[in-house]
Amino acid sequence: MLSTTLGTGLRIDLHTHSVVSDGTDRPEVLVRQARRHGLDVVALTDHDTYDGWDAAHEAAAEEGVELVPGVEISTHCQSYGVHLLAYHVDAGYRPLARELARIRLDRRDRLQRIATRLTQAGLPVELSEVLAHAKGASAVGRPHVADVMVAKGYVASRDEAFATWLSYGCVGYVEKYAPDIVDAIGWVHGAGGVAVLAHPWGRGSRRLFDRTMLTLLAEAGLDGVEVDHQDHDHAERAGLRELATELDLVVTGSSDYHGTGKNGHELGVNTTEPAEWERLLERVGQRTPHGTRRPGAEA
Ligand code: AMP
Ligand code: FE
Ligand code: FE
Ligand code: ZN
Repeated sequence: MLSTTLGTGLRIDLHTHSVVSDGTDRPEVLVRQARRHGLDVVALTDHDTYDGWDAAHEAAAEEGVELVPGVEISTHCQSYGVHLLAYHVDAGYRPLARELARIRLDRRDRLQRIATRLTQAGLPVELSEVLAHAKGASAVGRPHVADVMVAKGYVASRDEAFATWLSYGCVGYVEKYAPDIVDAIGWVHGAGGVAVLAHPWGRGSRRLFDRTMLTLLAEAGLDGVEVDHQDHDHAERAGLRELATELDLVVTGSSDYHGTGKNGHELGVNTTEPAEWERLLERVGQRTPHGTRRPGAEA
């Protein structure tokens, strides 16, 4: 249910992952943890899949938490991989659902290519091992490969696996299919939802998302920007908040919780101001699925 009048003081976390992608909690466990961490509103935003929504909705109803159905879409902007958060999209909207299926399929094929590269580099990894480890996941990825590398004693942690083997420029790095971000924003709107750029200045992407690029994306219909995120330091948050405000983009804050899969991203570590969430909900209310505006809605 969409609520349009939220009280102040609500604690809202708009970015979390479950075992359905690369988190370590089942969706229902994540929702219970959210309640324990004092959250009133939590979005489940697994990578490229809606598969956790049903279990999360059920648990949210029991716990008295508002569950926001979301997804973190793998896209590209120029030649860079970029994550786009989408909220309240209609799962039945075919163009977006089809695209997510295509991304998931390529994620699966890419695991084989990563396993082959690591094996050739002297760290034998079998696709079957990774798939067995990731058996609850609809969207498989590098974190699952990292976990197998930890289990086999090649590295001590997911962090070390990424730093040494799996990040861009490392031997085990393989690109994955991702649609253009402007197309993805269009599909999110077509599905009746809103689109928020995830951690835009994290991991060296500040140069890509300068004023010019953010202006272009705002003109393409981007609804908001995730400002308060652990990958942004204090000065970056201040600069990004100023730019987002200038471009009339909604400002969000969230944990990007991955359970035990990512350190320093505890539930509620960053939150979204209720007034900003309300602005996003107003935009959802103005969109019908398939992207047209409701009669009487403001442009
Ligand atoms: P993939 O979706 O397969 O391209 O993998 C990217 C995912 O890996 C991101 O969503 C992050 O959650 C995760 N990730 C990236 N860097 C690290 C790291 N250093 N440690 C743990 N997880 C990471
Ligand atoms: Fe992730
Ligand atoms: Fe992300
Ligand atoms: Zn994320």
